[in-house]
Amino acid sequence: MAMETKETQGRTPNFLEEIIAADVANGTHGGRVLTRFPPEPNGYLHIGHAKSICINFGLAKQFGGETNLRFDDTNPTKEDVEYVDSIKEDIRWLGFQWARERYASDYFGQLYKWCEQLMEAGLAYVDDQTQEEIRVGRGTVTQPGVNSPWRDRTPVENLDLLHRMRAGEFPEGAKVVRAKIDMAHPNMLMRDPILYRILYAHHHRTGDSWCIYPMYDFAHGQCDSIENITHSICTLEFDVHRPLYDWFIEKLGIFPSHQYEFARLNLTYTVMSKRRLLELVQTGVVAGWDDPRMPTICALRRRGYTPEAVKAFAEAVGVAKRDNVIDLSLLEFYVREDLNKRALRRMGVLNPLKVVIDTYPQGQVEWLEAVNNPEDEGAGTRKIPFSRELYIERDDFMEVPAKKFYRLSPGTEVRLRYGYFIRCERVEKDANGEVVLLHCSHDPASRGGNSPDGRKVKSTIHWVSAQHAVEAEVRLFDRLFKTIDPSDYPEGGSWKDNLNPNSLTVVRGYLEPSVAELPQDAKIQFERLGYFCFDYDSQPHSMVLNRTVPLKDTWAKVAGE
Ligand code: ATP
Ligand code: MG
Repeated sequence: MAMETKETQGRTPNFLEEIIAADVANGTHGGRVLTRFPPEPNGYLHIGHAKSICINFGLAKQFGGETNLRFDDTNPTKEDVEYVDSIKEDIRWLGFQWARERYASDYFGQLYKWCEQLMEAGLAYVDDQTQEEIRVGRGTVTQPGVNSPWRDRTPVENLDLLHRMRAGEFPEGAKVVRAKIDMAHPNMLMRDPILYRILYAHHHRTGDSWCIYPMYDFAHGQCDSIENITHSICTLEFDVHRPLYDWFIEKLGIFPSHQYEFARLNLTYTVMSKRRLLELVQTGVVAGWDDPRMPTICALRRRGYTPEAVKAFAEAVGVAKRDNVIDLSLLEFYVREDLNKRALRRMGVLNPLKVVIDTYPQGQVEWLEAVNNPEDEGAGTRKIPFSRELYIERDDFMEVPAKKFYRLSPGTEVRLRYGYFIRCERVEKDANGEVVLLHCSHDPASRGGNSPDGRKVKSTIHWVSAQHAVEAEVRLFDRLFKTIDPSDYPEGGSWKDNLNPNSLTVVRGYLEPSVAELPQDAKIQFERLGYFCFDYDSQPHSMVLNRTVPLKDTWAKVAGE
């Protein structure tokens, strides 16, 4: 029966919450809940991992339990401490704290003893076949496999060979250890799966003390069991591994951890396989794992995402039993929603067009009051300098206004946000006929942007005082891929053909001077332009800003037009 916990109030509990609530109610494992998050330290965590983290840590917290962080480091050739450190940093940033930090490699000794135990019981053997022979011998989904000629080695012989494998007597690929299950099993993974392979690789933790390494299936469940994990939650593709997970636990007679599967997170316009993300990094398509266009947690952080936004997104996506693809716009929706509450409003111009207010006194500067965040009274106000020469956004002017263009054009009046009503009187052009300067007049009675006589203007535009503007490099991002499913490409092509060539645009921004005083971790909304943050590359005298997300979903607009 579903138990209502604080977190589920107002919504139906998901299937994992139901299972755990029932276990707690029935006193399974004494009502204790211990989950684990098991990353392989072979890359940086991405938004899909964030989902898994939220589930594992979230469920444990919800039911008064704990979560272990376990590095699944059984693949020494691909793993590195660089990744271990980044994974820890990302989990902490999301706001979760693990109860214990563990490594599958901590258990290599125990796993080896369990392998001996299986051999003694006649449940594992050393196979001399080549990789190819093993593959062929396994059969197919429609055809049973055939027994290896080495399958009936005696326990004594197997143990001797295992010890010699461990001692480094055989070259890589010469032998493997396999479980002795059933070569005709309908589940291919049960057809004598491999437990150990020989690998003369340096391990980032165990160094050179091992030259045989356990396979995922011979490590994961047993590691769970060693740690007394009660609910081992993983993604759907592992459901076929579950019988094997249970088989080892049963044959070894060890703590009965149990595996549960949920649908992995997939996002439109996004690749999430670590192998592909690594390729993007290694081939220089992006500047690194934390390039703000990447779906990694460190990239989202650098781009200005908040942990709250990521967690709200994970919660909204929910826990499903079937694979699905989530619209990237949903993630962007949640970061907008969160930043709307916390971002300081500022003004800045990214594509400047100069304006001279001919009616405004030469040399005069007024400091106009502006609110920092209409969503948060506590955020206070600031002063913005107004003077005779300003920058406005080039897009906010049209010499010959298009239909429904209500912003500035010759003869029309607009409101300058927090400033004055101005009217465009005439334009100056360069030799190419491009408008380079607007001559405007202002209405002194409209100071602060208020209508003096009830007269209406159709638009309010942002601006900065030219003499006071501080300059910054501003990085604008678009989706890294131009197709909804980057893995979908014509024959003979590559997923990389789907990269969006315009995913990064760098412009010069002209910003109101108070931006230079903001702390490095400030969240900023440049009015009408989007949410921004300082990049790691930012310096006090050469600021660099990243646009986290525009204010509106421009992709939805394109699709809807
Ligand atoms: P990748 O396929 O990107 O290399 P992985 O599954 O090999 O990912 P691990 O480090 O093994 O990466 O993953 C750690 C945990 O995160 C696992 O429990 C895995 O199931 C989960 N996980 C990985 N990708 C996703 C995803 N897209 N959605 C939800 N959970 C995920
Ligand atoms: Mg994995």
